[in-house]
Amino acid sequence: MSLLVDAVTPFRFVLVRTAHPGNIGSAARAMRTMGFTRLDLVLPAHFPDPQATAMAAGADAVLADAGVHPDMIAGLAGCSMAIGLSARRRGVQLPEWSPREGAQQALAAAARGEQVALVFGNERTGLENAELAHCHGMVRIPSVDDFSSLNLAQAVQVMAYEMRLAMLADTRGTLAAPAANLPADAVQMEQFFTHLEQALDDIDFHKGRTPTTVMLRLRKLFQRAQMDERELRILHGILADTQRMARLAGVAGRDASGG
Ligand code: SAH
Repeated sequence: MSLLVDAVTPFRFVLVRTAHPGNIGSAARAMRTMGFTRLDLVLPAHFPDPQATAMAAGADAVLADAGVHPDMIAGLAGCSMAIGLSARRRGVQLPEWSPREGAQQALAAAARGEQVALVFGNERTGLENAELAHCHGMVRIPSVDDFSSLNLAQAVQVMAYEMRLAMLADTRGTLAAPAANLPADAVQMEQFFTHLEQALDDIDFHKGRTPTTVMLRLRKLFQRAQMDERELRILHGILADTQRMARLAGVAGRDASGG
């Protein structure tokens, strides 16, 4: 288990838009008790903060090493698998797993050489649709319907515990040699989505409609595909050619109409 605290640990806990610094400290403690040390914070309201340090109760190294990021893409850099924890479904059609199933998925991805993020939302609003859109699956802790929301750090504890149970039971060894063709990470996927949106614009696909819904659907589709870097390069090539043809067609169109 000493590999768990190694710098190459494939698992990170990502807390998004955390409002209360005490929760960050409690989450660090919860992670540390189960052997996890990599914490990434996306737009925390207050960090570093004395309340975080107080609640960490000695898990100071986790806080000291925590990454602080301006957006989710930066927080997920290097990860090709993100599992969002949410008390509610929120209309995003993602595979939904129990904490135990989620831990199995996380370990299976790590065994393929992938880095995995476990993503937690803001205390009041949870993970929003746009944030869940970066995830490949969702874990719901099966709380009661009329009081479903756990404290953030307690949700971290439940998931960290399930991860530890799964690792203790794992005989494959989660740090097996990485696969040759790794899935694209969050940064590469974001570059692809930017290119896709631009190309769709260039061919006037949206025709005045707002692109939000269709882009969310396309994100979901391509997230599900778990493309590797080579496949992503092919798609970039197709998009670049599409844009080139659209430019030519534009020129041709102007020539034809303009004389
Ligand atoms: N009102 C918010 C709750 C936020 S609690 C909502 O309905 O989503 C803060 C975070 O703790 C959540 O974003 C989620 O990551 C985690 N969490 C709390 N309860 C959970 C549950 N039952 N299942 C999964 N995650 C949960």
